[in-house]
This record gives sequence, structure tokens and C-alpha cells, in this order.
Amino acid sequence: MNNSSQNTKRTKYIFITGGVLSSLGKGLAAASIGALLESRGLTVTFQKLDPYINVDPGTMNPFQHGEVYVTDDGAETDLDMGHYERYTNAVMAQINNYTSGRIYYSVITKERRGEYLGGTVQVIPHITDEIKAAVLQLDGSVDIAIIEIGGTIGDIEGLPFVEAIRQLRSDLGREYSLFIHLTLVPYIKAAGEVKTKPTQHSVKELRADGIQPDILLCRTEVPLNADLKKKIALFCNVPHDAVITAIDVDSIYEVPLHFHEEGLDAKILELLNVWTGKPNIEPWKQLVYNLKNPQHTVTIAITGKYVDLTESYKSLHEALIHGGIANQAKVELRYLSAEELEEGAPVQLLKGCDGILVPGGFGKRGAEGKINAITFARENKIPFFGICLGMQLAVVDYSRNVIGIKSAHSSELDPFTSDPVIYLCKEWFDYRNNQVQVRDENSDMGGTLRLGAYPCVLKPGTLAEAAYRTEEISERHRHRYEFNNAYREQLENGGLKVSGTSPDNNLVEIVEIEDHPWFLGCQFHPEFKSKPMKPHPLFRDFIKAALTYRKRT
Ligand code: GLN
Repeated sequence: MNNSSQNTKRTKYIFITGGVLSSLGKGLAAASIGALLESRGLTVTFQKLDPYINVDPGTMNPFQHGEVYVTDDGAETDLDMGHYERYTNAVMAQINNYTSGRIYYSVITKERRGEYLGGTVQVIPHITDEIKAAVLQLDGSVDIAIIEIGGTIGDIEGLPFVEAIRQLRSDLGREYSLFIHLTLVPYIKAAGEVKTKPTQHSVKELRADGIQPDILLCRTEVPLNADLKKKIALFCNVPHDAVITAIDVDSIYEVPLHFHEEGLDAKILELLNVWTGKPNIEPWKQLVYNLKNPQHTVTIAITGKYVDLTESYKSLHEALIHGGIANQAKVELRYLSAEELEEGAPVQLLKGCDGILVPGGFGKRGAEGKINAITFARENKIPFFGICLGMQLAVVDYSRNVIGIKSAHSSELDPFTSDPVIYLCKEWFDYRNNQVQVRDENSDMGGTLRLGAYPCVLKPGTLAEAAYRTEEISERHRHRYEFNNAYREQLENGGLKVSGTSPDNNLVEIVEIEDHPWFLGCQFHPEFKSKPMKPHPLFRDFIKAALTYRKRT
């Protein structure tokens, strides 16, 4: 063995699968395990392997799939990436999220290039090798990599991933790989007891695929007593101290503490043969204490298209909670259908709200309702936060109702508007890729989006600068349309303040208005960078303004 390979850190892998049914909280479990390992001084990263055929979730409907989470490097990823980043210091990128579609795409591209030298290309070994290579890219980067397999054991489309991790166990060895299975132990009210059979069946299925779980996380409504744990251990062939209760909790931020009390991190480290210092979980205790003991309450209205599903606005929802934590406030969120606001009755619908937030979105559905809400917030001096589409519509409101450009619109929502104050910017300097980007109406659907982290320079003496307390920031984008500079002078002269721009001053990133307690719109998505331990400055200040508003009214 040469010196360099002796010095290379070998990463240990935790593979998390899910059983019985979906939505048991595998992503949160993975994130919580990461948080506990970090609390012991270890470095962690994550990877999500999604069995669906879409190459990435970028084109998927948030209503079906939940939010599309954007990383610094501009990847459109699964919303679990958000949990990983919020709970730990890990920074997610394209290599942290793979789908079947992406794996197959890569194998088929190689096949077309003749790289398989005339061989028959098959699921095993070609697809499984591609999956293994994707996982092993993480090798050496951290102490522990947590790999989450999407879907439920037993799904046909998940099989190649399960087979790949089965093989990785042999390749990596026992102390370098660990299988954790998240399952459900339902409480049957009529019988007054919990049932272990679904877990037994799920583990049986997993073993039929060649995987014996090392640890079981049992999602349950009621705590599992020692006898039940022994029963599950016996039937599922795991030691009884590897049966961990994953009890339902009030706040998702309690999960790491519960896992710790159940001895999960200690068991993981024992099985992986890793020695660490004592865990420091004080920050998590403090966080949960703060969440559970708010001094104030504040109500925020969110006007959006996907009002039925908090999953569609996952990061936004969390960032608002974080803003509350920073102000010792409980944030009550009221999701309002923008279409209802089109009827023009914002007063009744928005009554009792201390702040109004118009989030990102695509398409014209409900746009006029959102604009009505913005006009209402501006005129009644209710704190307003516009994000991406929300910022664009704030510009439309200001152009129409303050400046008097009656036909002002975004060319996304009205392609024939005579006053496109928001438009498709044909040419701009791309700081992230260090080149001039050119795009038009005919460019590829996904290709024209401005995606990922971009720098933004703040103007002194603005709400933005007061929040960030710095001159230059970096925030994540996911949009196609931009503020149209042809209207900039007119709007600025009319009182719309441009408080943040790209370093070349070409792209408008933040707008504000004066003579209002807090009215700010940003072209980027700050919600992707907020963490419970580090609330985002804009969400912190928005909630603060909403609290002040509440006290005054
Ligand atoms: N639809 C708008 C655009 O493409 C805004 C996108 C968003 O809010 N993420 O520019």
C-alpha cells in the first residue's frame, strides 16, 4: 500500500431503506442521524437515490412530488436535500441526488458511445455498477455518508438500488456499511395494541432481496415497551437494542433528541466501530425548548397555487418557523388560495394576518389574486415578503398602481403585454459559469432557467443591508424571467428602491419600498438557505416586522 492510500480517509456508509408504506419520514430520519453524528464531531454527507424515471425532479409538479429543492451548484433535487442541509453542515449538490432516470441515461449514453464493447447491457451488472459508482463518488470526502433509498421495499422500480447496496455491503465490509430500515408499527385502536406484523413482513421482503437490516427504526404513535422490542427483534433477526422507537413528535426538530434517547447514535457507532467524543446535543435541546416556549404569536398569510399541500412549500414553511425562532415567536401559517383572492375580497381573507408572503411559482393561475394581496399589503402597510414570482408581481403592482403603467405585466403571464416590466432577459453575464448566457422564447424548457447560487451586491441603508449586515451575499435562484431594466429608471424615480443587484448592476435581485414598515421582494429563494440554528436574516426581519405590526394593531 502506498502512502497516499494509507492516508486517505475511508468513508463509512449508512443505507436507509423504508418499509410498509411511504411518508414515514425517511428523509427526516436520515437528517437526524446526520445531526447526531455531527454532534459527536464526525463529518457527514448524504445521498438520495430516487427510483422514479424522471432524470431530476425539475419538471415534476410540486403538487405531486413536493417542492423542488435547489442547491448552490444549480441542481434541482428532491426535497429531502433540504432536510439534510437544515439539520447538518453538509452542503448538497448534484452528486447527492440520483434517480433511476439519471442512472439509465448515463448507461444508455455509454452504450451509444460503444463503451460496453459490444456486450449485452443489463440491469445487473451495468445499472447496478452505475449506481455503485454514484454512491462511491462520496468516498473519502467525509467520515460517514448516509444514503437514503427512496420509495418502499417491495416496489419494482427500487430493485436495482436495493441490489446495488446489497453488493456494496460485500464490497465495503461490515464495519464500513450499515443497513437501517424504517418501518411502521401501527396502533390499532379497536384492539388497543400495536401490531408488529407489517414490520415482520417488510423485513422478510428486505431479506428476500438479500439484505438483513442491522437497525430497525419503528415509526409508532405509542412508545414500544421492552417486550415488544424483543418480539420485533426475534422475528426480524436483530438485537433488541437495535430496535429503535421512532415516536411521533410535535416538531420535526425533536427527532434527533428522541433518537439519541433511544440510543440510536451509540448503536450506529458501535456497529460501525467508530470511536468519538461525547455528543453535544445542547444546541438541539435549546432549539426545541425555544420552539416549545414561544413568547409571542404571529400569523402569516401565504398566497399560492399549491395551497393544499405544505410539502409544495416545504423550505418556505420551515424558513418561516426559523424566523419565528429568532424572534421567540410561534408562527401560524395561513395558506390562502390565490384564485380566491382574485374575487377581490382581500380584506376578509387577510383579516388577522400580520404579514403577507407571496412565494415563488410558475404560470398565470391566481396571478391577479396575488397582485391583489400585494396591493393590499402595500396600501395597508402590512409587512410584505415577495419571493421570486412574488417579487416579480410586486414590481407589476408598483408599476400599475403607483407609477400608472396600467398594462404592466410579466411577459410570462401575458406574452403580449405592451409593458413587460418582467421579461425574458435575452443576454446576461452568468457569474456562476463565468460566461455570457443567451436565451429566447424557443430555448429548451429547463435550459433557460437561472439556477443555483448567484452573487448579489446590497445597497447601503436598505432593509436588505440591515438584515444581512454585509455588502455581498450569495443566494439560490430558480427562475426564467427578470426585472426589465428598460423600466428601472422610471420605477426608481417613482419610489421603488432597487436594493440588491448582480455585481455588474445588470440583474435586479431585490426591491423595496419606502414609507412602509417592511416591504421587500427578492428574485432568489432565501428559504433554501435557512436553518433552525441559523434563521435566514430576511425571514428573521420579516417576522420581526410582522410582530411589530401585530402589537400595533
Ligand atoms: N415563473 C417565474 C420565472 O420563471 C418565477 C419563478 C419562481 O418563482 N421560482 O421567472
